Formats: sequence, structure tokens, C-alpha cells
Amino acid sequence: MSDQGCVAKPRTGVTPGTMSLTQSAALSAVGAKGSRPSVGRGFRARTAAPAALDPLKRELDAWSRRGAVATFWWRDDDASGIRPGLDALLELRREADVPLSLAVIPAHVENGLAARLVAEDAVCVVQHGYAHANHAGRGEKKAELASGRSHTEVLDELIAGGDRLRAAFPGQFATVLAPPWNRIAAEYVSLLPGIGLIGLTTFGARSLATPVPRLHVCNCHVDIVDWRGNRGFVGWTPAIGQVVAHLVARREGRVDADEATGLLTHHLDHDEGCWDFVRAFLSVTRTHPAARWVDVKTAMDPGS
Ligand SMILES: [Zn+2]
Repeated sequence: MSDQGCVAKPRTGVTPGTMSLTQSAALSAVGAKGSRPSVGRGFRARTAAPAALDPLKRELDAWSRRGAVATFWWRDDDASGIRPGLDALLELRREADVPLSLAVIPAHVENGLAARLVAEDAVCVVQHGYAHANHAGRGEKKAELASGRSHTEVLDELIAGGDRLRAAFPGQFATVLAPPWNRIAAEYVSLLPGIGLIGLTTFGARSLATPVPRLHVCNCHVDIVDWRGNRGFVGWTPAIGQVVAHLVARREGRVDADEATGLLTHHLDHDEGCWDFVRAFLSVTRTHPAARWVDVKTAMDPGS
């Protein structure tokens, strides 16, 4: 979907996440398991995964029994420079050997971030709006891409932001928009392909994979920060509950089964509970035969 080529090429020609559950079952019968990417050897949860992970294991077992593969992808928001949490994030990603999409705020990006990421070949940069500025009206939920702004102003910002990321992260910038606060007014969506943005990611099960021509959507479904509470880890049961709810809905066909389940993290805000959860979640999903992590390019456009 992008000529920026920010991600490693698929290690096989087969991408089960592109298929229907039925097709995946057929593939499994001829050895899909053998085509899975290699698991990061030696990667283990540092602490024993608590029993709260059991519902996830049971749900993945249910996918296994159907011969289906549950795809996952990972987006981390609010990057701009070298900040606390960034090293931990990148180290965890490397240990788990899974792709990561880092949502970077273009107007605030610092040279140090580009230098830090240049050797990270499984990290993509996606566009986190422009300046993470709130343009919502009084009493409305925060949004940079709020309704009612001048289209010219919005597009000029997004173009400038994309240019900045393309220049700062050559080869790593995916032309995907992650709107700040996961909100974008409907009036802007159809304008995105015209300025070169061909992916959009917000939060919650997507209603359409391609809402307008040349624009792919893949959202996140698991937010591990308790924003309305202590702004720390939301807790094991609520976090796993979000994962399992999306997986069950996919398996039962109540949402788009081909939309990869998205983990949303915020490295700047993580407490130990957040890191412990991500580590354990990655450990389970990297070793279960019915789980596969995909990069943003595949998440957005499984047929790419
Ligand atoms: Zn943000």
C-alpha cells in the first residue's frame, strides 16, 4: 500500500490474516503452522503470567481448533524524542521479535528519535496527526482533527507533517494516519488518499476496511492505560478482557474477522504494570500457534 517500504518483507508468501476463517482452516490443513515467523528465541515473560491470561489462551485454543490464525498488531503513541519509556519499549519489541508501529507527532519530532530508530528494522513510523493540538469545541471530546476546521488548514498541516516524517525517517515512514485521541471528523476521511495517506487507524472494531477508495483502516482494540482513573495500568482482567472480546467477536463474525487485533500502548505513560502486561501478552501470543503478529502494512492491507 505504500512505496515507503518501512517494514521487513513478509517472511513467507502466505499471510493467513488475509484470509477468511474458512480459508485459514484449509491452509492449516496443509501446514500453515510451519510457515509462521520464527519466535524470538529466549523471549520469556520475566514474571509468571497470571491466571488472568488464561481466557486469552482458551480463546486462542478455540481459533486453533478451527484451524484459524488470529492476527495482532501493535501501535505505540505520542513519540517525539528520546523520552523515558522509549528504550524499554524498543527493548521489549526486540526481545519479542514483533513489528511495532510508532505514532510520531510530526511538529514535535526531534532529530534524536530518528537517530535512535534508524537501526530498528521492524519499527515503522506512522503519523500522529500534526501537533497533537486540541481543536475540539468547548465541552467536546479532545480532537485535533475536529469537525468544522478549515479543510485547507487541516490538509496543509497533514501534508507538512507527512513531509517531515518522510524526511526524518526515510524508509520507516508508513503513510498511515493515527489521529490524536483516536478521533477524526468524517469530513476529512475522504480527503486522506488525495494527500498520500492511505492508511487510517483509530480505536474500536472497524466498520469498513476501505471506507473510501485507496484508504485502508485497521484500528486498535486494547488500551492498557486507565486514562479516567489513575492513568496507570488498567489491570490484568480489563486488559485481557479487551483482547478476548475482540477475538471472540472476530471468531463469531460479529466484527470483521480479518481486522487484526490492535494493541495500543503509550510508552510515556507506562507504569510497571503496563510493561509487565505487554511482556506477558507478547510472550503468550508469540508462542501460541494460532497467533501471528503482523506489521502495519499487512494490518492495513493484508493483500499487499
Ligand atoms: Zn496521542
